[in-house]
Amino acid sequence: MNNIHPIFDKLLTKSDKELFLNQRGIVLWFTGLSGSGKSTIAEGLEKLLFSKGYFVQVLDGDNTRTGINKNLGFSIKDREENIRRVAEISKLFIDSGVICINSFVSPTIEIRQKAKDIIGSENFIEVFVNTPLEVCEARDVKGLYKKARAGEIKGFTGIDSPFESPLKADVELLTANQTVEESIHDVFNKVIKRLSL
Ligand code: ADP
Repeated sequence: MNNIHPIFDKLLTKSDKELFLNQRGIVLWFTGLSGSGKSTIAEGLEKLLFSKGYFVQVLDGDNTRTGINKNLGFSIKDREENIRRVAEISKLFIDSGVICINSFVSPTIEIRQKAKDIIGSENFIEVFVNTPLEVCEARDVKGLYKKARAGEIKGFTGIDSPFESPLKADVELLTANQTVEESIHDVFNKVIKRLSL
């Protein structure tokens, strides 16, 4: 083991891993209504960053609610636990130097603050995907608004459960008058400095 670089003699830190990956381990926390564009932009941003040599992980309802959080529903208590676990998981990713893009409705200021407290404010970039309810409802990507309006889904954010907009998000994306590509480049340009060493 003598020929190993001295850096490996001690426990590796976040900075060691950031140096190795040549990037900052940080969380981009996307919040916004269902259908606002969080997942579409998160996936596009992941590909764009990856093509430029950044190492990124996207966390969303699809890859967390089907696995680690599959025992949770949409009550306030379960939404809080959902976000708490996601925040703890992202913390592990960023401690490994990975850029974590989290795409969650995370509807209240309090719930997002809890995530920020777990992750650490210096590692947390809040991205508000600000799309008016009417636009989200007209898109109705998954047909969920129609079901919520028909009373088939209870407690749907924006319909019969509140969404509190961030008071001062680090980044705000107004997707209603942008193409998907424009939104992806918009967020890229606004965050890229903070992802780089
Ligand atoms: P969310 O993850 O917030 O629930 P999705 O990304 O699943 O939302 O859905 C957003 C829908 O809006 C997609 O069908 C997407 O193609 C469409 N869309 C239209 N314009 C934009 C834009 N500028 N940014 C993101 N999505 C957009």
